[in-house]
Amino acid sequence: MKLFPALSRRRFLSTAASTAAYSLVAHRRAAAALLNSPNQAASAEPSGKWMDEGVIDLSNSPHARLKTVPVRSVTIRDGFWLPRRKTNVEASIPSMRDELVNHGRMNNFLRLEKKTDAPQQGPVYSDSDIYKWMEAVGFALQSEPQPALRSTTEGMIQAVVAAQEPSGYLNTYYVGDHAPQRMLPATQETGHELYNIGHLLQGAIAYFRATGDPTLLKAGMRFVDNCLLPNYGPGPDKKPIVAGHPEIEMSLIELYRTTGNRQYLDLAGYILHGNERIPLKQSAIVYMFCGIPFTSRTKLEGHAVRAMYACCGATDYYLETGDPAYLKTLNALWEDLHKHQMYITGGVGARSEGESFGEAYELPNARAYGESCAAIGNMMWNWRMLAATGDARHADVIERALYNGINSGMSLDGKLYCYRNPLAHDASSGDKIRNPWYDTTCCPPNLERTLASLPGYFYSTADDGVYVHLYDNSEMKWKLHSGTPITLTQETKYPWEGTVRLAVKPAKADEFTIYVRIPSWSQNSTVSVNGKEVDGAKAGRYLPIRRPWSATDVIKLRFDMTPQVIRANPAVTDDTGRIAVQRGPRVFCIEQLDQTAGLTPADFYRYSARLQSETTEHYDPNLLDGVLTLQHPGSYSAPQPADALYSANVTAKDQDTATFLKLIPYYAWANREESSMQVWIPYVRA
Ligand SMILES: [Zn+2]
Repeated sequence: MKLFPALSRRRFLSTAASTAAYSLVAHRRAAAALLNSPNQAASAEPSGKWMDEGVIDLSNSPHARLKTVPVRSVTIRDGFWLPRRKTNVEASIPSMRDELVNHGRMNNFLRLEKKTDAPQQGPVYSDSDIYKWMEAVGFALQSEPQPALRSTTEGMIQAVVAAQEPSGYLNTYYVGDHAPQRMLPATQETGHELYNIGHLLQGAIAYFRATGDPTLLKAGMRFVDNCLLPNYGPGPDKKPIVAGHPEIEMSLIELYRTTGNRQYLDLAGYILHGNERIPLKQSAIVYMFCGIPFTSRTKLEGHAVRAMYACCGATDYYLETGDPAYLKTLNALWEDLHKHQMYITGGVGARSEGESFGEAYELPNARAYGESCAAIGNMMWNWRMLAATGDARHADVIERALYNGINSGMSLDGKLYCYRNPLAHDASSGDKIRNPWYDTTCCPPNLERTLASLPGYFYSTADDGVYVHLYDNSEMKWKLHSGTPITLTQETKYPWEGTVRLAVKPAKADEFTIYVRIPSWSQNSTVSVNGKEVDGAKAGRYLPIRRPWSATDVIKLRFDMTPQVIRANPAVTDDTGRIAVQRGPRVFCIEQLDQTAGLTPADFYRYSARLQSETTEHYDPNLLDGVLTLQHPGSYSAPQPADALYSANVTAKDQDTATFLKLIPYYAWANREESSMQVWIPYVRA
């Protein structure tokens, strides 16, 4: 059997629409015409409702209790996230494009069109970094039209589409001498062909939802329609698939949501079911988190990003099919995450070796891997679980990861990125945590797409009303399932302060429920409507407020922002005798350069915190783009004789000198000169 039945060059060109002059109005007309055409199956085309589709489109997902709202329906105003999002669009996205271009990632496409003699550069998954960057652009354009950025991206899309072969095959690595390796079992394991296409589809869908331009999306569909569906999947005449690096599953399901073509969902299900059709070694089954039925998994293991993406795809599959075996497995894996595997920052993946999960409770601090992509995968997975269940515990993980282990991944100036996000750092190690570029540059565009898509995570709708998940100055203009337009406006200084004013404005008076999230860290919360207190606020739950709402109603929320001293489960031996400090959704840390005691960097680890003491707060607008710092009583121990590895007969009391520790939010660490850092600080009882 021929691998990919080739389309004629002419037919290929006729299907490869030009990006150049694709106006929004023209697309709307075209989409409507396609959907109405008796000769064109609607299921094979992107939908015409692209403007209404959220980060993921759950509008027709039968097992989604919560539905997403469009990214463009929520405007984040000046507060905590606006400056970060502004930096993302003005500094990160443009500078990352330069990095990608300068490192030959666009030349990889252009050389296939003979527009450059440059050699192929980068690992087998390099195409995905371009696609993920395009996804970031797609989300950014959903918030704000940016003609220059759009024009630049259109040019890149043209180059990508031009590199697609008439068969629909598209990959800049498996060409020339590498072409015979395409989709061989060994290539499927490690070659990332489907991973690349998965990111192409995600990027294309985000861009389509921003602009209505299906050019890139149709390129992705040509790969799936012409290369995959006729040749791979169930059936005796087809070849088997293994994901290798899970990603394709959630992308195929989003493609199903975007087009209505059930074949995409079924192919994702086939891949998730992955049995021994391409037998993998046991070590690969663990590392790649594929190769056996997803529903046979009992714990998180192996490569953390692969595991998180597999969980995303499996949750998407549940949202569409309602298969209870998937929900059962997903809940079991989530319990494993929450009880054994997640850092206090929401980061996951303890080991550098294999970028992988460790054993239960294996959560080292300085050696923590905590890849930015894995924390993002954790957020993406919990977003899907939240939609499936409506359970606030998933929103808590989203918030924890977002404010800490994800937000730490991008520098304050938006041009440096963490691949690893350790919870302790020795400045003398020479380990440079923030860098502008990585040869495997998965994390930077992943951080960019996350910040760009953030408005889409603030709210959901349900049959009986609307859910409020995240808090920041913002406005949502969207509609209830009844069709009634509604505006929700938040005014707050969250997360620096714990009060939120939420103005509710339905277009007409109506009875429905507003579910406000009470974060798990807020032990004393109050909620009122029009000045009258509402009972029942419980930490870690949504408080449903059902009543007739009219345009002048105001909900006031007050969360408990008292700094909390956190201890880890004793089984986490790396945190034995240590505490962390959290205030609201944010985890804090100490950096050497903020401490007043004159210890050398090498002596940084001599600091300890007082276990039972008052923590005071101070907002410093001039520090780290404006942060609230905490002062906590502590001490430091005098250095031992330089040559002594061990000393006898000393007590902590003898050695300690009182001081104050100054803590900053973890996300802001490593934004000044090189400095040691730790989240988990040793404590003394006095
Ligand atoms: Zn990454």
